[in-house]
Amino acid sequence: MGNVIVIGSYVVDLMSRAPRLPKPGETVLGGPFQIGPGGKGGNQATAAARSGSNVTFVTKIGRDLFGQDAVEHFKKEQFNTHFVQIADEEATGAALIAVDINGENQIVIAPGACGTMTKQNVLEADAAIKEGDIVVLQLEISMGAVEAAVERAVLHNVPVLLNPAPYQAFPREILKHVTYATPNETEASNLTGVEVKNEASAQKAADILHQLGVKTVMITLGHKGVFLSERAFSGRVLPGFNVEAVDTTGAGDAFNGGFAHAITSGQSLEEAVRFGQAAAALSVTKNGTADSMPYAGEIMAFLS
Ligand code: ATP
Repeated sequence: MGNVIVIGSYVVDLMSRAPRLPKPGETVLGGPFQIGPGGKGGNQATAAARSGSNVTFVTKIGRDLFGQDAVEHFKKEQFNTHFVQIADEEATGAALIAVDINGENQIVIAPGACGTMTKQNVLEADAAIKEGDIVVLQLEISMGAVEAAVERAVLHNVPVLLNPAPYQAFPREILKHVTYATPNETEASNLTGVEVKNEASAQKAADILHQLGVKTVMITLGHKGVFLSERAFSGRVLPGFNVEAVDTTGAGDAFNGGFAHAITSGQSLEEAVRFGQAAAALSVTKNGTADSMPYAGEIMAFLS
């Protein structure tokens, strides 16, 4: 079993479906209210743990009811929570999500406690990073925390997976230390300035990332699959799985968590991408984000 260290956000998802999204200043009546664990860090940690990895989750939550729910979720998923910080001053992060009948959504994220994660919080988790087989990062926490995580991973020779989502500008030197980068098409475009719309442009974007130092580039292409590139001009599309999608939110997180598990448990790169894509395909067949992540048994059955 691999040791997967996820350093990132936890927010609670507060969601309702409505016939249509409200216009500015308008209130619309929605359907049932749903509440569940979310945040890119929390979702990827859940996907990796359910896939079968030992997961250490480094995050920050508030001393409030949503924080208590978070702790319950972390226990249920058997995360090592030694480096979960509890903030006295800030609330647990929340995502306010409205979805219309076509699946179109509006989301406001109030990062709360996880938005105040600092370099120091990451340094406190150094012992875990040192024992890690991979450090998994996203861009929903401060750049100071992300940079510290990369610095410690490099020091301990631990591979870094960077899911550059949601995209925010960051120092390009970080990419020198990234073993696996997993942007979606929009994030790949934001990172490189190349509009990713087909295989040729995906390769162009991947080549720029290789030049900046990224070893393996995996551009996720929604239901079309993953563009995998290990060096200049070497990329190819590994197709995704054909499933009946009901809610694609969190697909990228399922892919990242599943991939991190598979690559640290000795699978080849292509096998690990396939495993990640299977986890993602299963996740889109269910509602919710963290709660839609599949378990190892489901993934194995799906792949067999
Ligand atoms: P999100 O932001 O919703 O989490 P994303 O934009 O980061 O997603 P995508 O590229 O949409 O990530 O999807 C990640 C992976 O999930 C894809 O590479 C694919 O393997 C799988 N996937 C996404 N949508 C579907 C779908 N409709 N059917 C099957 N697999 C899907």
